[in-house]
Amino acid sequence: MADKQIQKKGRYTVTVIRDKCIGAASCVAISPMTFKLDSETKAIVLAQKLDSDDNMLLAAQSCPTAAIVVTDDETGEQIWPK
Ligand code: SF4
Repeated sequence: MADKQIQKKGRYTVTVIRDKCIGAASCVAISPMTFKLDSETKAIVLAQKLDSDDNMLLAAQSCPTAAIVVTDDETGEQIWPK
């Protein structure tokens, strides 16, 4: 299985680095329409675009291991982690 998963969402691209994910699920609690835990208790990114960019950024910032990387599609800038 791939060690990370990338999914485009609105203006941001959200990446979950599986090796860093410890299944804490705070991302799921904040953005349940974007993140979900799979059968290995690792976060995956759902196909829908139902959470806002700001909401997904909050979810990424809540991750205790910084396993979620957010980049801005327009500028190419990595928004999180800084
Ligand atoms: S908050 Fe981080 S460690 Fe917890 S499930 Fe989400 S990506 Fe994994």
